[in-house]
Formats: sequence, C-alpha cells, structure tokens
Amino acid sequence: MKKSYLFSPGPTPVPPEVSLAMAQPILHHRTSQFTEIFNEAREGLKYVFQTERDVIILASSGTGAMEAAVSNVLSPGDKAVCIRGGKFGERWAEICESYGVIPVNIDVEWGEAVKVEEVARVLEANPEVKAVLWQASETSTGVKHPTEELASLCREKGVLSIVDGITAIGVFDVKTDQWGLDVVVSGSQKAFMLPPGLAFICLSEKAWEAVENSKCPKYYFDLKKELNNQKKGQTAYTPAVSLIMGLRESIRLIKEEGLENVFKRHALLAKATREAMKAIGLELFSKSPSEAVTAVKVPPGIDGGKIPKILRDKYGVVIAGGQAKLKGKIFRISHMGYVTKFDMVLAVSAVEGVLKELGYDFEVGAGVKRAQEILWGE
Ligand SMILES: *Cc1c(COP(=O)(O)O)cnc(C)c1O
Repeated sequence: MKKSYLFSPGPTPVPPEVSLAMAQPILHHRTSQFTEIFNEAREGLKYVFQTERDVIILASSGTGAMEAAVSNVLSPGDKAVCIRGGKFGERWAEICESYGVIPVNIDVEWGEAVKVEEVARVLEANPEVKAVLWQASETSTGVKHPTEELASLCREKGVLSIVDGITAIGVFDVKTDQWGLDVVVSGSQKAFMLPPGLAFICLSEKAWEAVENSKCPKYYFDLKKELNNQKKGQTAYTPAVSLIMGLRESIRLIKEEGLENVFKRHALLAKATREAMKAIGLELFSKSPSEAVTAVKVPPGIDGGKIPKILRDKYGVVIAGGQAKLKGKIFRISHMGYVTKFDMVLAVSAVEGVLKELGYDFEVGAGVKRAQEILWGE
C-alpha cells in the first residue's frame, strides 16, 4: 500500500475544499453566475498581491504570464537586464530573445542572490536599459533575491521592475504597490494551492504606459484587450472556468488564515526543513534561502538522482531533484501552499529514510527531532 505526498515546488497539493469547488458543474462563462465568481476571485487576487490595481487572470502556465510581461511592456530592440541565477532567470532572457528584446545578462553564481550594487553598476554602464527582470524566488536554486531593494533601485534609475513572483506571491511578503513593482506575475500551481493552468499578472500605471508603446507582436496574451474584458467581469477568450471556481475557494482559504499568518507558516516550515537537513549533516545549497523551497546539496558518495526517484517510486513522496547543471547535485523540498507542520515532519522523515537506504552515515531521527523542536517551539 502506498499513499502519495507531494512536496514538489509546483505543482503543490490541492486542499479538498478547492477540489470540491472545481468539481461543480461547469458554468457558461458569458453569464452573470460566472461573472460573480470571476469578480470575487479578481478582488481576492488584489489582497494576495497586496495591490489596489487589477490582477489579470490568464489561462496558461506561469510562463505565459512571463511571456505576456515581455511582449506587452517591451519592444524589439529594447534592452533589458535579466538576472540569471538559475533556470527561471535564464527563462527571462530566452523570452526576451524570442521577442527581439536584447537581454543584458547578469550571471549570478547559482545558489547566490544577486548583489544590488552589481545591478546598479550594470544600469549605470547601460543607460538605455528599459527594465530589470528577476525572480523574487528562484525555484531552481531555492534562492530569494532582494526584491524590495532591487525595486527601489529600478525606481531611482527610472527603469521598469518586472518580477517573477511565481513562488513568492502567497509565500512571503511582496508588497506590489508599496514597493513600486511595475510588473508582477504568478501562477496557480504554487502557493495558490490549485492545479496548474492559471497565470496572473499585475501592472503598474507606468507599466500600462509602456504597454501603449510596445511594438512586440501579440494576440492571445494582449493584456490591454484582457484588461478591458476583465474589468467587465469577462475574459477575451474562454476562461479556465473550473480553475477560477477553485481560485475563489483557495483565496477564501488564504483570507481565512490571513496573509500575515500564511507568511509566518511558510517561514516556520522553511526554517524547520533547513535546520533538519543541517542536523543530519547536510549542507544547504542556497545562501539566501527562499521560504518556498529548500535546496539541499547531495552528500558526497551518494547518487543524487536516486533520492527523488526512490522517494517517489518506493515511498510515494514526491520531491524535486536539481534542474539543468544541478541535476544529481541537489534535491529540493517544497513547503509552499497547502502544507502543514505534520507534513514537514513527514517529508524530513522520508528524506532520512532514503538517505539511510543509500548508505549515508547519520543518526536516524536527528533531522525529525530538530524539525519538531522548531515546529513545536524551541
Ligand atoms: C514554476 C515557475 C515558473 C513557471 O513555470 P510554468 O511551468 O510555466 O508554470 C516560473 N518561474 C518560477 C520561479 C517558477 O517556480
């Protein structure tokens, strides 16, 4: 008998209340019933994004909103600084290139956060740059970049801040309006506790002005057209009706817990996970750890690829391995979304189990003990 547990940094587990909301009969989208649900979800997104502005809902994975950010705000020939400290940072640069936007790349050692002074230096050397693109939380390395500081640098230099908040919004504090972020994107299958399929994007007034001048080709991801429709409780094309019904419910759950408490829970679960890994002699990969996901170095002599594989096939526990050049070198445990203290104890216990099986030498239970000390109060 095997039970399944999901600790991957997307998709994340879905609460039963949300599954039930999505199991309701499909509504036709050009009806007042749908509009009511859609408007409630839209209002709720403002709360989670900490913004007064519209948050546009798109039917796509998170990357769709990243693409929409570039294609609606920038133009071919524009220069944009891309902070590349992991797979998703590289994605920003790839999207820019696809639209003829010239990326000015800042390559950050994987596992480290970008230094604000370095970005300032690059902006000074490239005064024609229009925007800086980064990840608030770089999921591939478990790194949190200094979003508030980067945003204030962008304001000072008069360039747009374009932030991938896909594993940040609803995980830790990102004050979209207060920090003056120009574009923030997120997706459904991370902290929003939904299946994959929805993406969200929020633009500042300055970003909407840039939309007016953008010359990139666009059709499905035409944000101006979407905004006009969404303000009327409609979408330009057929929306992901069931996911939006789920979104209204997941936001209700987030509101019920309170955003501050959601952040506190993530911070506690992340700390317990980090400390547990250290307690069994493992090293963390990220020098600036994100509360969304903990990246852990595979100890020497252990076949890193086997850790997620055995966990998945034998234990029913899904964690993530390393991506690209980190394949086999790290594993990643998510504590994002519908995750509780008990779940974290289970995840740590499962990691201990597989490491024991692979011959890693440590005191079994030391990680679980450390996690519990933190979770139940030191
Ligand atoms: C998951 C994720 C994405 C989006 O990936 P999709 O597969 O398109 O949903 C983008 N950025 C980050 C940081 C992510 O974690």
